[in-house]
Amino acid sequence: MSDDEQAGGGFTLDLSDDVREMRDWVHDFAASVIRPAAAEWDEREETPWPILEEAAKIGLYSIEFFAEQWFEPTGLGTPVAFEEIYWGDAGIGLSLTGSCLAAVAVSSNGTPEQMGEWLPQMFGGPGDVKLGAFCSSEPDAGSDVGSIKTRAVYHEATDEWVLNGTKAWATNGGIADVHVVVASVDPALGSRGQASFIVPPGTKGLSQGQKFRKHGVRASHTAEVVLDDVRVPGRCLVGGKEKLDARLARLAEGGAAGEQAAMKTFEASRPTVAAMAVGVARAAVEFATEYATERVQFGKPIGQNQGVAFMLADMAASVDAARLLTWRAAWMARHGRKFNRAEGSMSKLFAGETAVRVTEQAIQILGGNGYTREYPAERWHRDAKIFTIFEGTSEIQRMIIGRALTGLPVR
Ligand SMILES: Cc1cc2nc3c(=O)[nH]c(=O)nc-3n(C[C@H](O)[C@H](O)[C@H](O)COP(=O)(O)OP(=O)(O)OC[C@H]3O[C@@H](n4cnc5c(N)ncnc54)[C@H](O)[C@@H]3O)c2cc1C
Repeated sequence: MSDDEQAGGGFTLDLSDDVREMRDWVHDFAASVIRPAAAEWDEREETPWPILEEAAKIGLYSIEFFAEQWFEPTGLGTPVAFEEIYWGDAGIGLSLTGSCLAAVAVSSNGTPEQMGEWLPQMFGGPGDVKLGAFCSSEPDAGSDVGSIKTRAVYHEATDEWVLNGTKAWATNGGIADVHVVVASVDPALGSRGQASFIVPPGTKGLSQGQKFRKHGVRASHTAEVVLDDVRVPGRCLVGGKEKLDARLARLAEGGAAGEQAAMKTFEASRPTVAAMAVGVARAAVEFATEYATERVQFGKPIGQNQGVAFMLADMAASVDAARLLTWRAAWMARHGRKFNRAEGSMSKLFAGETAVRVTEQAIQILGGNGYTREYPAERWHRDAKIFTIFEGTSEIQRMIIGRALTGLPVR
């Protein structure tokens, strides 16, 4: 039996009926609700609560929808859904999907009880929309996840963890109902001595610090989160104390200790971030193509010039290539395949850089119009840049791929 067969089926580009139906449904919402609201919320630089509410009403903003796509048997449910949402708008898209990162942090390392208790509280429901935030990055620990300074100290007498530190760049930070915080339980162990903690709604000591005013994805809230003697019950340690103690004991004996908490979350979500970038890039290619067939200069559509048509050809080919890498990685993740060549990072790297390049080319094709806020291309370009920065910068992705290919400790 081949590896493919053992893994539960070969890769196919034929989407299942369920995924196709879901894609059309999400696309409808993206075209009729998300895209028309995009410019307004980009200017307002706020979480678009009414859009979240609309999405909750139809079941799109819900733990059920995202869980269904995450566990969809072919692995393509999540990338297909995210591409459509981000085709609508990346800022609103990040508000609609930001809670998923916190949900993945709990579901990839947590107990079934933790998932049952906290995931629904990260999404809420119609009339009572809620948010989750995943807080790993710090002012002095971005790419260098191992240097996280936030400390978690266990108090046995009360079975509580006490968290202290400052988190930077948290999507939904400070406005979320549930925060998942990565902290060091044993600083001497660096990244291997870290764990994730659930901070329940209304916990004293957690507050929002600076809210960042950004270049793009401005309809998504990004802020510092300050943790000042935040006390959470023992059951809020993701995965539980027994698992953590066993891991630390293995480390003390010099054994393997599994993947560190934050890296595991990032790994599972990389093809998903790639799919966001593909959505933005596709929007730009479609818009530029239509513009090039309509805009007339020198008596003919500008698309009739090779200079423009070749640019469109390169743009379309890169977007399709980015999607193929994304679907491959998502399929591999779903079928438990090992990422021996860092295929997840490849998808995120290529899709992120494609989005930046093709949105810039779209501005070029739109000329002066592309440079104004009357047209969406400049917003797409500003939004696209985030995909080469968050969830591991392009340089970090290259480092991971380089290490996987060479087996060398590339720094
Ligand atoms: C809008 C937004 C939303 C975010 N949301 C979240 C969130 O929800 N949760 C969260 O935890 N974080 C979040 N982040 C943080 C994001 O993941 C970090 O910004 C990112 O990991 C980079 O870290 P840094 O900003 O500290 O940059 P740095 O790590 O300081 O990097 C600066 C530059 O140096 C390069 N560099 C660093 N190390 C190396 C190396 N070894 N080799 C080569 N080049 C290197 C980088 O590639 C980059 O170009 C968000 C950020 C933004 C902007």
